[in-house]
Amino acid sequence: MSLHDEFDRQHLWHPYTSTLDPLPTYKVERAEGCKIYLEDGTALIDGMASWWCEIHGYNNPRLNSALTRQMEKVSHVMFGGLTHEPAIELGKKLLELAPESMNNIFYADSGSVATEVAMKMAVQARISKTGSHKATNFATIRSGYHGDTWNAMSVCDPVTGMHGAFGSALPVRYFAPQPTVRFGREWDPEDFQPMERLLREHADELAGVILEPIVQGAGGMWFYHPEYIRALRRVCSELGLYLIFDEVATGFWRTGRCFACEHAGVEPDIMTVGKGLTGGYMTMSAVLTNKQVADDISRGEAGVMMHGPTFMANPLACAVALESLKILSEQPMAERIAHISSMLERLMAPARRFDSVADVRILGAIGVIEMKEPVNVGEFQKECVKRGIWVRPFGRNVYVMPPYVISDDELTTLVSETLEIIR
Ligand code: PMP
Repeated sequence: MSLHDEFDRQHLWHPYTSTLDPLPTYKVERAEGCKIYLEDGTALIDGMASWWCEIHGYNNPRLNSALTRQMEKVSHVMFGGLTHEPAIELGKKLLELAPESMNNIFYADSGSVATEVAMKMAVQARISKTGSHKATNFATIRSGYHGDTWNAMSVCDPVTGMHGAFGSALPVRYFAPQPTVRFGREWDPEDFQPMERLLREHADELAGVILEPIVQGAGGMWFYHPEYIRALRRVCSELGLYLIFDEVATGFWRTGRCFACEHAGVEPDIMTVGKGLTGGYMTMSAVLTNKQVADDISRGEAGVMMHGPTFMANPLACAVALESLKILSEQPMAERIAHISSMLERLMAPARRFDSVADVRILGAIGVIEMKEPVNVGEFQKECVKRGIWVRPFGRNVYVMPPYVISDDELTTLVSETLEIIR
């Protein structure tokens, strides 16, 4: 039986694909725990957690039950003028987990929309505080990724991101170089100098700075030194710039802490979460901020936060997210992630000796093998399916970020097969 579907090939767009020469897609029938089952019965050990999301595994009985219980009460209701228990309880849980200063929550639809909302918050608050419309631009670091909507694209890396395709249609942002000092190495204050110079020079044009703390995901799978964001926090506070942490990929324990900013012990003014928020069940994100920012927005010209999506605080999404956060709170997550991390370290270490490999790096439940040459994704995935694993490389990076419930045997098979393909 063919694993590919002709209608799909002819009519459906997949992420970043051509209609003229689409990459192969494999038809999934069901998924359970860490395994994805294709239509012909082939079982694949999932190394991607469906792009950072599926942290508790597929078809999780607790998440299923939270969803069906909520479905029998109310699946959706507008959030304008109405509220509900799942939104309230999820909010309480989020504030319990988030950095202490976080006080106000905006529920949004996806990681990209959360980026839009966070940037709008910073702009509204900055205009309200300065009384001027001049300080509305943003600074960021190279090799970042914040989503595919318009403003999100504008702060993604200008080379590997989408600036080439969209050119002058995108707002022009300020880019500091990518931090070079690696996580776990000795800090060099020189690393922060270009960003500090940029911020001091352009402070009166900026609303804030947006970046992924510690782990840059889709823009390069790079882990940098926590001192960088400590220094950034100090300078942003001094200059009155809003610091936005995009924790969409890093949030909910992926890096070994509940949020990546905890590695540095600093708090943002605004932070975004998404992906793992609902345990990978449905699309939802949240933007959190402190009372100062929230109140500044409300004291501004518009008098309100200017955003209000149709599916804001969707009860099904809130209910499943609440259950997902409960599962995390009930477990010793730091130990769980440390265990996955030490296994990744041991299993991936041999790749450091491969001629084709430029670098191997591990942080939390993320393992990255950076190749010297770009990987042929189609060919690589064909091999994966043959060997019963699911890994999707990007550029020169072959990486795994499995569901937290992966067994030692599954993780061993996942990584050793990945290494075999690379070899
Ligand atoms: N921010 C980061 C750090 C991300 O990794 C992503 C998704 N890869 C996004 C934002 C965008 O999220 P979404 O795809 O849900 O819009």
